[in-house]
Amino acid sequence: MSETKKYVYAFEEGNKDMRELLGGKGANLAEMSNLGINVPPGFTITTEVCDLYYKNGKVLLPEVKEQVIIKLKELERKMGKTLGDANDPLLVSVRSGAAVSLPGMMDTILNLGLNDQSVLGLANKTNNPRFAWDSYRRLIQMYGNVVMGVEHSEFEHILENIKNTKGAKFDTDLTAEDLQEVVTRYKNKIEQVIGIDFPQNPLEQLFGAINAVFNSWNNYRAIRYRQINDIKGLLGTAVNVQTMVFGNLGEDSGTGVCFTRNPATGEAKFYGEYLMNAQGEDVVAGIRTPLPVAALENQNPILYKELVETGLRLEKHYRDMQDIEFTIQQGKLFILQARNGKRTATAAVRIAVELVGEGLITKEEAILRVDPNSLNQLLHKQLDPIAKEQAEVITQGLPASPGAAVGEIVFTASEAYEKAQSGLDVILVRTETSPEDIDGMHSAKGILTARGGMTSHAAVVARGMGTCCVAGCSDLIIDEKAKTLFFKEKEITLREGDFISLDGSTGKVYLGKIATQDPELGGNFGTLMSWADEIRRLRIRTNADTPYDAQVARKFGAEGIGLCRTEHMFFEGDRIKAVREMILASDLEGRKKALAKLLPYQKQDFIGLFHAMDGYAVTIRLLDPPLHEFLPKEDKEIYELAREMEVDVGTLKAKISSLHEFNPMLGHRGCRLAITYPEIYDMQVTAIIEAAIEVSSSCKTCGRSTVVKPEIMIPLVATTKEFTILKERIIKIVEEKMAEAGVKIEYKIGTMIEVPRAALVADKIVNAGAEFFSFGTNDLTQMGAGLSRDDAGKFLKEYVSQGIYEYDPFEILDQEGIGELIRLAIVKGRSVKSDLKIGICGEHGGEPKTIEFCHREGFNYVSCSPFRVPIARLAAAQAVVKEKNKK
Ligand code: PEP
Ligand code: MG
Repeated sequence: MSETKKYVYAFEEGNKDMRELLGGKGANLAEMSNLGINVPPGFTITTEVCDLYYKNGKVLLPEVKEQVIIKLKELERKMGKTLGDANDPLLVSVRSGAAVSLPGMMDTILNLGLNDQSVLGLANKTNNPRFAWDSYRRLIQMYGNVVMGVEHSEFEHILENIKNTKGAKFDTDLTAEDLQEVVTRYKNKIEQVIGIDFPQNPLEQLFGAINAVFNSWNNYRAIRYRQINDIKGLLGTAVNVQTMVFGNLGEDSGTGVCFTRNPATGEAKFYGEYLMNAQGEDVVAGIRTPLPVAALENQNPILYKELVETGLRLEKHYRDMQDIEFTIQQGKLFILQARNGKRTATAAVRIAVELVGEGLITKEEAILRVDPNSLNQLLHKQLDPIAKEQAEVITQGLPASPGAAVGEIVFTASEAYEKAQSGLDVILVRTETSPEDIDGMHSAKGILTARGGMTSHAAVVARGMGTCCVAGCSDLIIDEKAKTLFFKEKEITLREGDFISLDGSTGKVYLGKIATQDPELGGNFGTLMSWADEIRRLRIRTNADTPYDAQVARKFGAEGIGLCRTEHMFFEGDRIKAVREMILASDLEGRKKALAKLLPYQKQDFIGLFHAMDGYAVTIRLLDPPLHEFLPKEDKEIYELAREMEVDVGTLKAKISSLHEFNPMLGHRGCRLAITYPEIYDMQVTAIIEAAIEVSSSCKTCGRSTVVKPEIMIPLVATTKEFTILKERIIKIVEEKMAEAGVKIEYKIGTMIEVPRAALVADKIVNAGAEFFSFGTNDLTQMGAGLSRDDAGKFLKEYVSQGIYEYDPFEILDQEGIGELIRLAIVKGRSVKSDLKIGICGEHGGEPKTIEFCHREGFNYVSCSPFRVPIARLAAAQAVVKEKNKK
């Protein structure tokens, strides 16, 4: 007899290592049940069922239904109650829970099992009719919305209406009779809107809810959340069916969310919020403003102690900060859920470092605990403290997510999205946010809400995104239609487009724009980075074209420059004039004359870079773009230039059109320019070596002498001969200059590998004398995949959404394709010179997945923009730990 697969697990049948199958929530509920923590009993339907549900045309397999019924019967036996029983009903919650948490993105149904009969039984049994009717109306509201598709606002409208007629301020002011009326109106509304009655059969309710939770795996916001957070490869969500416990049974009952450490700052102090006489969604939705969990200590010290002890026990068990949902039912504490808590990057770093100090985790584990990309949050600006002193605080809310945001006010998520797309900095102002606002929240620099606490939707989502957020600012009156924002206390009205500044660390809101400043990089951040530096093998360099960028990068820990794009130096001030003069010159003499004007500027630039890098290698790439990029395109500018250069407009236009190319990216650029106009590279090489000689001797500018290690890099090489011709010219100039000065500089000549042909003949290029390779993965992706860097953005999103490419190949290296070209070039190159220095300087050099690839493939360094240097340091260390853990 073939055994049927197990699709449903009672909590006590699972454990924490079964996340993939039971989802994070299911696995943790199982683990806690087995630890003897007071968890309401229940069972979990596996993530495999979700997968099968979709494969089976959104229908549950009969064997799954059978197993659900068997587990339900077991649960009923355990609880001594029957689902929906008319006298003493068992009630359950039905919740989602994937292997990776998608907070608030999927659906939940509470109080399931209530109907017109069992509500009376519950009223009787609890001797609390108000509670019973309140629970029933909540079920109808949730079920009506989530399962039956009636708009949430239809129910809100009815509730508000009854509150108004009864003169009730809060939901809690409504009596049992009022709530009974709410129930009747809710049921009528459902019937009126969809023509079907609210189901009275508890099993029909149960399977309706299970299907709805599976459906919510693919609702828009869950899909978007997975996209934004790069959550891939999951089977689906599990469904947890759990016995209800009630926080709304009276003033001795309540519900809350707490963290074992502060999720915003990481401080090792119990932290959270709760509400008495309420159900879970009241806290999360921010409808009533909750109390800080510390207040529970006064209200019920024994229970508070039990909560803290349970939290700490779970933290020790999971060796990480816990986010715990709890309910107090008539003075008894139940834990409904515990998971590793979401946290800001600041908190992630602090918690990781402190857990090492407490002996709970190793340094290597700490390194894996922080998402490198999230460090962006720490590296970003804070409001300038002095500017802040002088600015006007117009109101204050809760410091829900740290950092600073300066931008113009918008009132809807869609406006936030649109304005941000057009390049504006916006602050999204909402009464409260909901999961539908996800795109707008993601686009905004900051979020300001009038309602909700530190665990409200806005606060949780903003922290996850690393977006600055001030929440629960009750001083605000927001008129979304009139697009006005009124500050009650100060009696100030602002309109759409007016600027405000938010301080997410204090909750203060300032009028107008405030200057921002760079963050502090010491403390826990410095400690974590020092651990990363001890472990990583890859060196981290930076892409920098100016001494300022180079200094910023040094502060972030850069160990050299991997790419200086010299063309950027050609645009500044008077230089562009000389560049244009060079381009327009009709003969070699004319070009040399113009280049001679550029030489001192270039030399000075290189002196600055060598100083900033203070002994680290500096890779200077010789000129790369096609010459027409330096000429004007508009008629008006062409006329001006003709006047300035004293040439006639016709001649200038003829020159410009002679330089026109149909496919400039594949045209006369990179080393091809120097093959036809070698004097350009001659000037650049002269500037490099003269600067190096000056800085390594005694610098005329500053008197200091510094070790210099120039690495001269030739772009766009495709053939060995190109490299040989240019290399010989470079050596000749460098050797002559050094002999003249009587100085010896350690220098290298190498090439970018950015044309696929170069990868294929890499061994020959090394044989011709290349001392290093730097992979220009922007061009290598462009030419290797035949995707235009400038145009492919228009369709790549679609390619990614259809899974043709897993990621945008210009953001995350296509390891399968372009990676193969890289592997080949490394093998060929190192077959000739085993210590060939290998680096990467395309945009991918600061991207964690690509960095892991570079580590595996034996690169010497990655090079990235200054602000990504710490991200690269951490990612490089993670690559080492992951490799070790695999072995
Ligand atoms: C590259 O192609 O990857 C590169 C670094 O050069 P650029 O982006 O300047 O073309
Ligand atoms: Mg390039």
